[in-house]
Amino acid sequence: MAGTYPAEELREEMFSTSMEQETLSHQGTLLKNIPTESALRMESGLPKIPVHPIGFHDAIHLLKNMGGQIPPNNWKGSLNVSYRIGPGFIDDFKNQTVRMNIQTNNQVTRIYNVIGKIRGALEPDRYVILGGHRDAWVFGGIDPMSGAAVVHETVRSAGRLLSKGWRPRRTIIFASWDAEEFGLLGSTEWAEDNAKLLQERAVAYINADSAIEGMYTLRVDCTPSLHTLVYDLTKQIASPEEGEEGVSLYESWHKRDNWTNDRDAPRISKLGSGSDFEAYFIRLGIAAGRARYTKNKKTERYSSYPVYHSVYETFEIVEKFYDPSFKRLQTVAQVRGGLIFLLADSQLLPLDVNEYADSLRKYAQSISQLAQKHPDEMEMYEVSFESLFSAVENFTVAARDLHERLQTLNRADPLQVRVMNDQLMYLERAFIDPLGLPGRPFYRHVIFAPSSHNKYAGESFPGIYDALFDIENSADPEKAWEEVKRQISIAAFTVHAAAMTLTPPA
Ligand SMILES: [Zn+2]
Repeated sequence: MAGTYPAEELREEMFSTSMEQETLSHQGTLLKNIPTESALRMESGLPKIPVHPIGFHDAIHLLKNMGGQIPPNNWKGSLNVSYRIGPGFIDDFKNQTVRMNIQTNNQVTRIYNVIGKIRGALEPDRYVILGGHRDAWVFGGIDPMSGAAVVHETVRSAGRLLSKGWRPRRTIIFASWDAEEFGLLGSTEWAEDNAKLLQERAVAYINADSAIEGMYTLRVDCTPSLHTLVYDLTKQIASPEEGEEGVSLYESWHKRDNWTNDRDAPRISKLGSGSDFEAYFIRLGIAAGRARYTKNKKTERYSSYPVYHSVYETFEIVEKFYDPSFKRLQTVAQVRGGLIFLLADSQLLPLDVNEYADSLRKYAQSISQLAQKHPDEMEMYEVSFESLFSAVENFTVAARDLHERLQTLNRADPLQVRVMNDQLMYLERAFIDPLGLPGRPFYRHVIFAPSSHNKYAGESFPGIYDALFDIENSADPEKAWEEVKRQISIAAFTVHAAAMTLTPPA
């Protein structure tokens, strides 16, 4: 690693550590991390069902002779077979079995997170984190190396600036995570090790997994308070597309993926999971975002990208097909790096809580509409969303007031600036419920969680959503609707409590 850092100053700032001497302490006081080494490990972290991917030529022989029931249409794939879900095979093959030989090395083994820091000049106790994984399924030409390269180039840029005398206002932490593909292990271990520090000091986490999954346009998933920053930043970055000289990334993205239902702007989606931001955002409540180049969802309907996680994910496929000029990768680097630099160096944190208010209103409307599909039960069990709507209203007023106060803030008074920045930074934390979501104690964000049905997708008001899921088939409707009411109450309480953190200190 060290050879890739151009500036001597930066090299001094960076230190790479393994789990045995992991630390966030200041230079010169490296702490041996005894708790990590001696910690008891959860037994239940990895699934017990043997799973192995197989190729088309093997799969078709098994699928074409499957017996049992016909699955719902949306479970069926595109192979020329009449899909059935088993158990067992059709008549001629009734006595056949499939033998799977799977060899798994089940052991606790060492992993390595590589952490680099640039100490902030004015607010060293405020951390802005750029993290992405380094381990790959096979060669990792796209996942994760197209993203790991972005982290390296951002470090290189920071090194060049440091050598010119620049130093960010806040501390920047660069992280190269290990063992992401085993279940986000490296990033989660580090988040758990440093949970107390991070909940006191972390401003934002930007994720740097694969930088491309298509050749069409930008894709951003982030917390609502980062929307405005993403729009402002992409207006200053050039489109990487041929024939779009002089066109901004924002305009190019807007043209290709307009957020029609919400507003006339490029689409930004909710964070789901399936990558290393999970523990930072959904467990610790740190404002988070990710950006990458993506496919055209209207015409490319496969999930992810065709060679995802396969042996064909090579450097050559990126160089020959995805990004021959490497301009798209450079653009993604400008977005990720730009977010880090602006979050670390702006006097006032570029977080927009009005955007959070707008999103909360939309989420509250859509979750209440989901419940309205059961008007009789809503009436019978006296289910109401009034408390949630009024909490969102409180939040909206508090957010608007806070942004008005920002307009007249005396920026020459560092204490006043710090007071406001702390309110902005801690807002995301206010959405954390220490008790966690029902059945999912690791997930503690009341507004966002990975969908219980697709970990890559995000769900808003997940507690209410899960309580409503399939409620028409519930064995005990009264109990099920009581749970809906309980979840509405938790959501309303949390949104109201978060609104209170935005009000003037006195
Ligand atoms: Zn990845």
